[in-house]
Amino acid sequence: SAEDIGRHLNRAVKELPSTKALDKLVKGGGKDGQGLRLQSEKPVVLLLGAGWGAHSIMKVIDTDTYEVVCVSPRNYFLFTPMLPSTAVGTVEFRSLLEPVRTANPFVDYLEANCDRIDLENKVAYCTSKNAYLDGRRPKFEVPYDILVVAVGEQPATFGTPGVKEHCFFMKEIPDSVGLRQRIQQQFELAALPGTAEEDLEQVLHFVVVGGGPTGVEFAGTLSDFLREDLKKKYPELMKHVRVTLLNSAQTILNQFDSKMQQHALDNFKRVGVEVRTGVRVTEVTKDTIMLKNGEQLKYGVCVWSAGNAPRPLVQQLAEQIPEQAQFQPGGKPSKLAVDPFLRVVGARDMIAIGDCSLMVGDRLPATAQVAGQQGAYVAHMVNRGYLPLLGGLDQPPPCKPVDAAALATDNVGTMGSTLEDGEGEGAALLYYKKPFQFLNLGMLAYVGDDRALTEIMLPFTKIKLSGQFAYLVWKSVYITKQVSFRNRVLILFDWLKAQVFGRDLSNF
Ligand code: FAD
Repeated sequence: SAEDIGRHLNRAVKELPSTKALDKLVKGGGKDGQGLRLQSEKPVVLLLGAGWGAHSIMKVIDTDTYEVVCVSPRNYFLFTPMLPSTAVGTVEFRSLLEPVRTANPFVDYLEANCDRIDLENKVAYCTSKNAYLDGRRPKFEVPYDILVVAVGEQPATFGTPGVKEHCFFMKEIPDSVGLRQRIQQQFELAALPGTAEEDLEQVLHFVVVGGGPTGVEFAGTLSDFLREDLKKKYPELMKHVRVTLLNSAQTILNQFDSKMQQHALDNFKRVGVEVRTGVRVTEVTKDTIMLKNGEQLKYGVCVWSAGNAPRPLVQQLAEQIPEQAQFQPGGKPSKLAVDPFLRVVGARDMIAIGDCSLMVGDRLPATAQVAGQQGAYVAHMVNRGYLPLLGGLDQPPPCKPVDAAALATDNVGTMGSTLEDGEGEGAALLYYKKPFQFLNLGMLAYVGDDRALTEIMLPFTKIKLSGQFAYLVWKSVYITKQVSFRNRVLILFDWLKAQVFGRDLSNF
């Protein structure tokens, strides 16, 4: 009856926990005791990040047993594989976002950056992303029992002068929003009366640096926008438009085999994207790209998608933990080395997943697929009550104290003897024997003009497809991979809207 429904709803609302994590922040943090710190009776699992890895944990982790706190400067999960589509308006950017607070309302979210970790006392020091009224950014501390570092990476510039100042990246929503506006601005600028021919060549030259999946997908998507929408509105300008893809390696999309790479190159030739391989950018000024061979390219918009670099927090942690040194290439801290249970080597109760981690002995690709699977693995492990303890290849696996119920589960654990490090001495242990294993489901890349490359892994074979059918697979996979039904519907409508009315050309 309506009355019953009303009663149930009321109860459900009352039973929802307070999602204001700030309520749990109490005075008494910091050396002087004047800061804020988190107060909780349950063991605290602290997640750093709200991307593929952390989001996958949030969906599965047991919030009845653990106080789960997520600290991240952005309060949403972003479906990155479709980010290039938002830069030209094939898909609206809000269709790719999932607010953290809806992923799991029982996870406490704090919009902040984690600046540093006190490894000994197990405390994370954080700073709010936004300023308070008096212009100060609040700082707070979160003591944790288990820390999961899932902060991803940031775009790498390789120290190339001018990249930060003059190029667009393709990493976050603000990058894509800014780029979409800039593409449109270039066309409006070129359409002004009296613009010299040679200026038009420069203003309408779009350069993409990086021949990996992101650079290739953006170049393909941009060529669609030019041919399908801008050509109709600015027909007289089209003869001045150029799209160039620069790559320092000799091939593009080196994750795919040479036949698939050739398919991408042939497609680019057909749609008018000029691909230049074996060229290295040495400097970018406001209107010129300098190449190592001395050549200078005049450009209007440059998109830099040439790889990733570590976040400052990860560099700092890798430097803080002496056992990490042997795993850092050239002695430069880059990723957190983790053991097969994803525990950070040399650190206590710390797990690292996704792009910011490197599994020793099994070099996994830095992809959403890996990060998502690692997140689910960690959540299941934590839900079963396993303690990471000290990470390292020569350390015993994660364990939990034995009880009859645990033995009855399918945890593939075996009886151990006692804890050797003194913690819980004398207690029998159940060791966790199941290291993380990546299940490769395949790869996808859009190359423009409704064509894609797909490689789908089946138990004993892989299916390779290229062309328009592969694009249908690309679309189907990404629609089914959306986290929410809402976003599935929004994306389908965005595709339909772009097909029927064309992409929006507003300069906003
Ligand atoms: P991220 O998803 O990057 O999340 C990191 C999180 O940490 C963010 O929420 C960030 O705000 C937060 N953070 C940063 N610093 C701090 C800090 N100091 N404290 C707290 N939080 C912090 N992969 C595929 O498998 N297939 C694809 O088709 C594909 N396409 C891609 C297209 C683009 C344009 C991009 C950019 C990436 C693509 N990837 C793809 C790669 C994939 O997105 C990454 O591998 C994946 O995001 C890694 O997940 P993560 O959880 O490690 O990091």
